[in-house]
Amino acid sequence: MGETYPFTIEQFYRFVGEGKLMGAKCGRCGGIFVPPRPLCPKCQSRDLGWVQLKNRGKLLTYTVIHVAPEEFQQMTPYALGIIELEDGVRLPGIIRGVKHEDLRVGMTLEVDFDTANIPSKWPQWPRYFFRPTQTI
Ligand SMILES: [Zn+2]
Repeated sequence: MGETYPFTIEQFYRFVGEGKLMGAKCGRCGGIFVPPRPLCPKCQSRDLGWVQLKNRGKLLTYTVIHVAPEEFQQMTPYALGIIELEDGVRLPGIIRGVKHEDLRVGMTLEVDFDTANIPSKWPQWPRYFFRPTQTI
């Protein structure tokens, strides 16, 4: 794990395709960041390793998209949010499984993965999404 995988967004999506949400963790300052970059954005260290991110977090902000790029237009309207995971990483993602009028800033969401209905052309639809947690 770690050093053998490049710190790129392509590799991030490859992990997502395997059902894993991974980020880059800096060995010097301990910062975790997504999308991965070959340099730590905080201290410029190259001492990085992949870590699996927490699957749960809370909704920081969201917006409902009505007009999307052509390849995603069939999915509109959809909710796009920024979720702060339990390890402090902030990640954008589509929110499903909840009515848009029931979305609340601060609500707990968890990551789920999608293996179907993926447009094959770039930009790829992210293969992860967020949904309300099953346990309340
Ligand atoms: Zn660092």
